Amino acid sequence: MALQVYISGNWVDREDAKISVFDHGLLYGDGVFEGMRSYSGKVFQLQEHLDRLWESARAIQLQIPGSKEEMATAVKETLRRNDLADAYVRLVVTRGSGTLGLDPNRCCNPEVIIITDKIALYPQEYYEKGLELITAATIRNHPAALSPRIKSLNYLNNILAKMEGARAGCVEALMLNHKGEVAECTGDNIFIVRRGSLLTPPIDAGILEGITRNVVLELARQQAIPVAEIAFTRHDIFIAQECFLTGSAAEVIPVVKLDDRMIGDGVPGPITLRLIKAFAALVHSTG
Ligand code: PMP
Repeated sequence: MALQVYISGNWVDREDAKISVFDHGLLYGDGVFEGMRSYSGKVFQLQEHLDRLWESARAIQLQIPGSKEEMATAVKETLRRNDLADAYVRLVVTRGSGTLGLDPNRCCNPEVIIITDKIALYPQEYYEKGLELITAATIRNHPAALSPRIKSLNYLNNILAKMEGARAGCVEALMLNHKGEVAECTGDNIFIVRRGSLLTPPIDAGILEGITRNVVLELARQQAIPVAEIAFTRHDIFIAQECFLTGSAAEVIPVVKLDDRMIGDGVPGPITLRLIKAFAALVHSTG
């Protein structure tokens, strides 16, 4: 059976999952999205993802049709129809189809899209040995231009940074903010361990407030690991003992090199491994 995609109230085969070429999501990147994961049929942190989606929409003055409860029901139904238990779930809300001008008031109906599919994981080797990163020349969005807190359909600078990473043979790339501080990676948040403390850039460093980031901060607190949300630079990564990334798709993944320089001992460190274990236990217990 063909994969079923939800589009604004209906489920259609993937080949028929189409929206208008006049949709401002396509014409201008005018829309918002979420990426989530289900474990054993249950969407991890579903409420938090819905809250962030509604906040992103609010920030661009986009009214999402229906309630969060209805969206949650539609997500669960999409997973059920596709018989998927461990899956990736993409929610997209576009401004809807309008005229060729920018004016969002000329768009009538926002489109709500739910795509579920098998999760494309990083190779297991990266989880065991750690990733290598490069620092992209493309910086994260200036918060005064487009807040990185909005998970909008405009991901072009992250895409450009990802391409820089790929050219250097890296699957992820570090992005700095407009002040030259560490922000995050193209689709993941970043953490370092320094002298036993876990550090991650604060939201006002111009990052997406990652849901996995928040879960990992909470897990660290539960394990009595000192945590701080504090601005830092590449220098701090070079002198860190450990480094890892978090994201809904990647979960918790160690980083062992930045710009060809080894971080710590060049292997996933003890705090990283503890948090990977705690995260796995959490997703499987709530799943
Ligand atoms: N930063 C960016 C830019 C992202 O796109 C993502 C993934 N959506 C993340 C961080 C990680 O966020 P989350 O843990 O909510 O998936």
